[in-house]
Amino acid sequence: MTFTQHFNSATLLKKKIIDDKLCFLEFKVENWKGHIPGQYSEICLTAENGYQAIRPYSIASTPQKDTVSFLIEKIDEGEVSNFLYDYSLAGDKFQISNPIGLRFILHNIKTPIFIASGSGIAPFLSMSKYLQEKKISFFTYHWSRNITGLINFDENFLRLNKYYFPFLTREIPVGWKGGTERIKEENFNNLDINQGYEIYICGSDSFVEKALSVISNLSLDSEIYTERFGS
Ligand SMILES: Cc1cc2nc3c(=O)[nH]c(=O)nc-3n(C[C@H](O)[C@H](O)[C@H](O)COP(=O)(O)OP(=O)(O)OC[C@H]3O[C@@H](n4cnc5c(N)ncnc54)[C@H](O)[C@@H]3O)c2cc1C
Repeated sequence: MTFTQHFNSATLLKKKIIDDKLCFLEFKVENWKGHIPGQYSEICLTAENGYQAIRPYSIASTPQKDTVSFLIEKIDEGEVSNFLYDYSLAGDKFQISNPIGLRFILHNIKTPIFIASGSGIAPFLSMSKYLQEKKISFFTYHWSRNITGLINFDENFLRLNKYYFPFLTREIPVGWKGGTERIKEENFNNLDINQGYEIYICGSDSFVEKALSVISNLSLDSEIYTERFGS
């Protein structure tokens, strides 16, 4: 049996280039009824000859907003991500599916911990905004190759403070006070093994596998949820 997603007409409202790999796209989507933080939608591109390419993207915007945002990372040789990053323009028309997935949604029963690499921060932007509005504490550990990829670094550094752990792996600015190492068990020494957590891991396949093995060795009382973006 095959299941087809319901697609809605969407118009690109704003495109914000963050750096040479990342951009935010904000769409107005017809019939959008909101989403649960952590869900994704499929973006469908249609060429003039009718050829279509469809890829899933995590919803990065606040739930209930009447527009929908995505954080897109341009992948080398990537068909859809390159088009969206390089060629999409405000006013362009797309098809965007209704929100999908109940496997990686925010449960918000125990203290949430978000562990991301690169654009894997996308679903956590939506989850964080939801938790911040409700004044609920959560931890964020984010690995990025450079500071622009950390997204809202200044705001997070001030607002999340002791709950925010940024790591840079390639370009390290002078005076950087965050981490510079790859993910390892010591990064989580501040967590309380007697407290319950729900842990969300998102990013490339290899990062998620590594993070899972690190977290499994910590013997935390936790539920673990993962979202893999690709190789
Ligand atoms: C549930 C889900 C949510 C996702 N959310 C996001 C998101 O919020 N933001 C985002 O930027 N991407 C996200 N992705 C990844 C996205 O769906 C595409 O796979 C990605 O944009 C590449 O598509 P493309 O058409 O550009 O590359 P393709 O033309 O499909 O692939 C080109 C080459 O790149 C490789 N490749 C594919 N994906 C990746 C990757 N992520 N990293 C490295 N190499 C890759 C392929 O193996 C192939 O060799 C998500 C994926 C899933 C499954």
